Amino acid sequence: MTERSSLVIRPRHTPAVVHTDVLLVGAGIMSATLGALIKGLEPDWSISLFERLGAPALESSSPWNNAGTGHSALCELNYTPQRPDGSVDVSKAITVNQQFQLSRQFWSHGVTQGFLGDPRSFVNAVPHVSFVRGEADAAYLKARHAALVDNPLFEGIEYVDDRSEIARRLPLMSAGRSDDETLALNWSEGGTDVDFGELTRQLLTHLGDNGAEIHYDTEVRNLKQNADSTWTVVVKDTRTGEKTRVNARFVFVGAGGGALHLLQKSGIPEIRGFGGFPVSGQFLRTTNPDLAKGHHAKVYGKPPVGAPPMSVPHLDTRVVDGTSSLMFGPYAGFSPRFLKEGRLTDLPFSIRPGNLFSMLGVGMNSMPLTVYLVKELLKSREQRVEGLLEFAPGIDGDDFELITAGQRVQTIRRNGLSGTLEFGTCAVTHRDGTIAGLLGASPGASTAVAAMVDVLETCFADRLDAWRPRLLDMMPSYGTNLMMDTTLLSDLRRWSDKTLRLSPEDQLA
Ligand SMILES: Cc1cc2nc3c(=O)[nH]c(=O)nc-3n(C[C@H](O)[C@H](O)[C@H](O)COP(=O)(O)OP(=O)(O)OC[C@H]3O[C@@H](n4cnc5c(N)ncnc54)[C@H](O)[C@@H]3O)c2cc1C
Repeated sequence: MTERSSLVIRPRHTPAVVHTDVLLVGAGIMSATLGALIKGLEPDWSISLFERLGAPALESSSPWNNAGTGHSALCELNYTPQRPDGSVDVSKAITVNQQFQLSRQFWSHGVTQGFLGDPRSFVNAVPHVSFVRGEADAAYLKARHAALVDNPLFEGIEYVDDRSEIARRLPLMSAGRSDDETLALNWSEGGTDVDFGELTRQLLTHLGDNGAEIHYDTEVRNLKQNADSTWTVVVKDTRTGEKTRVNARFVFVGAGGGALHLLQKSGIPEIRGFGGFPVSGQFLRTTNPDLAKGHHAKVYGKPPVGAPPMSVPHLDTRVVDGTSSLMFGPYAGFSPRFLKEGRLTDLPFSIRPGNLFSMLGVGMNSMPLTVYLVKELLKSREQRVEGLLEFAPGIDGDDFELITAGQRVQTIRRNGLSGTLEFGTCAVTHRDGTIAGLLGASPGASTAVAAMVDVLETCFADRLDAWRPRLLDMMPSYGTNLMMDTTLLSDLRRWSDKTLRLSPEDQLA
């Protein structure tokens, strides 16, 4: 991809086939992040993005379709499982935290370079808190704290079980509880709330201002590899029905829930055996400023028995468009659509000979999940509010409205003759590196930078040596295990806190 290619779709008089170096499918946080990374590495490559909806970040990356937690494993208990001997396994938490450090650095680079605006418009400091009730869970939280407190990535994490201190920090969650009830917290001051929709919009504006062609209301319908390894991608203008063929050297399928279908259509062997299981969700939300003022934290509890990890109840401070609000959930549900604006046929049409056994295997082995989803689906609004009041008895449930969250498509992967349901994010890449796509949803948008760096490393391995200095400009800890270099870690954390205005002094300003 050396020469600057001629451009892409123009109105009707354009030739039937146009050309681009990089074709991004979907205007969510993943494509936006990959596009911005590539623009920084190879400013002369042509980039075209196609989005089926009319604007960026209308699916999972919209601020009201996700919880906006900057996942760095400070509070999510599913990243720190307890072993049978009572000790706590923190390996997953360390990985997720390091991935989030790359996001913080890349966003700080964006602010310094001016392609991201006022950081308060997309990231805000909000403490991250784990919350449990009862002696056994308090003992687990104490062990979790002991396993993390000396780790520089989790510096400052506290264990709190004093009821008056808990009441001071979380008044709405403490009011109305019996004095005899054991409560405990792990408290990290350095957490964040992120508006991934705004971040997506700013990254795409930067791309558009720097020559990328961004097309809304344009759906990618098909893609096929040519003999010279490039791809012919058929896109359809959803307003006029007009179809165009685009020739691309590299394709990234950042289509969220739509990625599985497109990767299946591409015919790459690497997608065989993968399936998807859609889980829909709802949140309770209030924009009442008095309630929002009474709770400033993202508080994650323990999931109910049989519930998947993404169903952990949490009460979140959200900062969207400069206004604080509270959100509680998620309440899981079922819909066969793979996108919020998807089709009812999404699930049945995703079943192929290559993934039939994986899908059947998961269907037979996932009874507890199915039972959990059915129970969640049948819940009335009153029962949902009861869940909120159990978590935060000091809240008035009447102030909350139910909103529909984004659609998650959990990855099903072949496992022998059966399949396994996974809750993480997984990049699928063709062996020749000309196409990649992202399946799954967790830890999701927070770790978009690490996920997209992985895509670059896999697909452009031969360019990495040349790119390394630029990658280090964008993410100074690129390629470094920050646990092994605590000076670098604290320097970078101080720098990104200052640049992203996350330090306590900045919050008071
Ligand atoms: C309920 C919920 C809570 C979450 N909470 C968090 C959280 O707290 N923190 C966190 O970090 N992550 C969270 N996530 C995950 C996070 O939202 C996602 O990982 C992330 O937004 C995915 O970004 P994406 O760009 O891959 O997909 P999306 O944002 O869904 O974007 C994909 C885009 O592709 C478009 N598209 C699809 N098919 C086509 C096609 N054929 N042609 C053209 N365009 C197409 C879609 O219209 C869409 O705009 C949550 C997700 C959900 C659902």
